[in-house]
Amino acid sequence: MTDTLQENMKLLKNQINTLKKEKNITLVCHNYVSSEIIDIADFKGDSLTLASIASKIESEKILFVGVDFMAETLKILNPTKRIFVPNILATCPMANSLSPEMIQEAKKQYPSTPVVLYVNSTAECKAEADYVCTSGNALEVINNIPSDTIIFGPDKNLGQHIEKLSGKKMIYVPGESGFCYVHDKIPGSLVDEVRVVHPNAKVIVHPECALEVREKADFIGSTGQMAGIIAKDGGECYIIGTEVGMLYNLKEAHPNVTLYALSPHAMCSNMKKNNLLNILATLKSESNEIIVEESLRLKAKTCIVNMFEMMRS
Ligand code: SF4
Repeated sequence: MTDTLQENMKLLKNQINTLKKEKNITLVCHNYVSSEIIDIADFKGDSLTLASIASKIESEKILFVGVDFMAETLKILNPTKRIFVPNILATCPMANSLSPEMIQEAKKQYPSTPVVLYVNSTAECKAEADYVCTSGNALEVINNIPSDTIIFGPDKNLGQHIEKLSGKKMIYVPGESGFCYVHDKIPGSLVDEVRVVHPNAKVIVHPECALEVREKADFIGSTGQMAGIIAKDGGECYIIGTEVGMLYNLKEAHPNVTLYALSPHAMCSNMKKNNLLNILATLKSESNEIIVEESLRLKAKTCIVNMFEMMRS
């Protein structure tokens, strides 16, 4: 990075910090956003952490940096807060691959079967679900549901991972087209290649990765679980198979451990639609507010509340 670029970034960060203080707006960021945004976040984390901390945020206004379903989830849980996003086009193709009609069809075919959705889903789909889960708590939630068969969507990779661990039968919606392109496209051959270059390293991958990657990994865990796995395992070098933004967080948490990305191309272009310029512009304009219609919000909230109940079971 050139000196001028660094100077400009520093200037923008200072302006953002000043403005969010002046306007009492809390900056909440997902782990996958760029490192320069993580640096100025008031709160950062995975979907579950962000959903849980929002109620503890005192300011009335939150600028959420991530993708749309995450901001929607915050709004569903915190209707009195005003939630803004820097770019309304930052969305999640995996969440958008599932429609409420697909869930209704599956419910007709498998009546009385609980519907569990990955939190990466739209409010309209959540309104059709009995439970949501995150990649960090999916096993716990599904194990605690009193049914051996589950309608699950939209991520088939996470679903298959949990199906194997829980022994429960999963019916997938939308099926083969439900995946995260960032994780699903990481080829299994990369794991073989990094093991040649870094023979002593251990490979940790996200459950959204394809089966051939998961099968070759030493550990499988959510972004929230990755730091814990490294701390517990105590190794010196790890290869991380998830969105590249996560590497920055892990390096901050484990400065003495050597970390490499399994695929430097695993980048979510939607997360990267957020930048310092549109964060500053949104702080100034207070535009791009997330609105969830009240009857939809109440329906969508039930499955999130049920998730927290299953975690307490
Ligand atoms: S990384 Fe994948 S699941 Fe996450 S927002 Fe991007 S496309 Fe969606």
